[in-house]
Amino acid sequence: MAPARAPRWIPLGWTAILLLALTVAAPPAHANHWHVPDANGYVSHLNKLHFSSPDTPSGPGGQDEQYCVESHDTSVVSHTRARDFVRQTLVQLDFDKIWDGTGDWKIDLWYTQYACSSYSSATRDTIEIEYHYGHNWNNIPNCSGTWGYYNCVEFRRPVWNSSYGHYDYAQGYVYLVFSSGGRLDNVGRAFINHETGHIWGLRDPNYAGHCPAPSIMHGTAVGYGCTNWTLWYPSQPDFSSVKTVMAGG
Ligand SMILES: [Zn+2]
Ligand SMILES: [Zn+2]
Repeated sequence: MAPARAPRWIPLGWTAILLLALTVAAPPAHANHWHVPDANGYVSHLNKLHFSSPDTPSGPGGQDEQYCVESHDTSVVSHTRARDFVRQTLVQLDFDKIWDGTGDWKIDLWYTQYACSSYSSATRDTIEIEYHYGHNWNNIPNCSGTWGYYNCVEFRRPVWNSSYGHYDYAQGYVYLVFSSGGRLDNVGRAFINHETGHIWGLRDPNYAGHCPAPSIMHGTAVGYGCTNWTLWYPSQPDFSSVKTVMAGG
């Protein structure tokens, strides 16, 4: 019997962080690059990454992933410009550099036309990923801390996944700060891809300097001491890791 579903909109679960400051090495507490239940016993990835829908060129299928983008200061970047940049990064660049299509299209990303907050709460509940651009996220409990200006991920609405026998999450929120992850350049792309890697269940390195293979999860340059790999796009090992998550591994 499936355990009862947890209440909606209560922020639960593990939060991924990535340093802005290049001078401080964070001590990541995560066990490996994917798929470890958090303190609540939930697995920190998006439920729908396990599943695919028949191709539907006119719109998202039931197992596809929709994402909306919201700017919290449109004098810095408009909703549309932020959305177009996220879309370009995730969907429109060369196929070997984008998350879209991973795992024979189990990841199939569809943008929403309008900013996240423009939708009713009922409609918004059906959007799997939200990207938020802002100056800082100190108002998000899991996204603030000693070092201040984080880009981070927060999962919401755990769901029982009977196909794989674990709880995962219906929604993931990505919070980007204008000074790093919210930049409209390859630094911004690196953070979008890194935080989106967390949405698929990938983890930060075990410890500073843990950089066994090229990975977007190493952060931008020296955040985790991974100076040997400085990617702004997902690597082939990253795609392989996500496929492992998809398979329940
Ligand atoms: Zn991270
Ligand atoms: Zn799962």
